[in-house]
Amino acid sequence: MKNITKDFILSPNFNARPKPAIITTIVIHHTVISYAKTIELFQQTASKVSAHYVINLDGETVQMVNTNHRAWHAGKSSWRGNTDINSQSIGIELVNTGVEPFTNPQIDSLIELCKNLIAIYPTIEHRNIVGHADVAIGRKIDPNKHFPWNKLWDAEIGIYPQINGFHHPIPLNSRELLHLQKRLRSYGYGTEITGVLDKQTQSSINAFKQHFCSHNFQENGKNHWTEEDDKRLEEILDLAACRGAVTTTT
Ligand SMILES: [Zn+2]
Repeated sequence: MKNITKDFILSPNFNARPKPAIITTIVIHHTVISYAKTIELFQQTASKVSAHYVINLDGETVQMVNTNHRAWHAGKSSWRGNTDINSQSIGIELVNTGVEPFTNPQIDSLIELCKNLIAIYPTIEHRNIVGHADVAIGRKIDPNKHFPWNKLWDAEIGIYPQINGFHHPIPLNSRELLHLQKRLRSYGYGTEITGVLDKQTQSSINAFKQHFCSHNFQENGKNHWTEEDDKRLEEILDLAACRGAVTTTT
């Protein structure tokens, strides 16, 4: 197995994973700040933040926390009912301002790193290869709408169905909202089942659309739920059921 990590610069910001440690998830982030500033931040004890890996614009990758340890990258979060994402995940930061495309060398390094990690930890499931925005709905937007989930999918990493068209918004009455909330939650989002289009439901729709429908995603806006989104969610649930479930997350 090729090891793409060129450097180890250790961060003091980590603790032990609970035993038995089962790594099921990869969380992808963008840094906003530069490579050097990110490394500096993760080296400061006072910052109380870290990630296992940081990938620069040219694809260079530094490892800052041993993957056997629990890095501090996800914060308050929820995915598939698990609210301690740091304990089960590997955090990867990509240098990106948040408003620009990611570079090809960066994505190539990320793909290679994910493949290595999946080989080392077969308990990682494709449906658990997510963005910080997916696990912290309404709180985080990284890795932002420019992140090319489709390129990961083409490399057989994660889940990203190819469905286009049907942009009509679906009117959401309370029965349809309950159905939508349940399906978003069953995929992994921390959506509460309320039957109303409340703030956390709108945040869930926004997070879903940023990830799976970024070409039709309104930043800082109210995103409608369309027929396309509905078909995509159905496809995602199907794919999640048949793809990459090496072991089942409890
Ligand atoms: Zn983040």
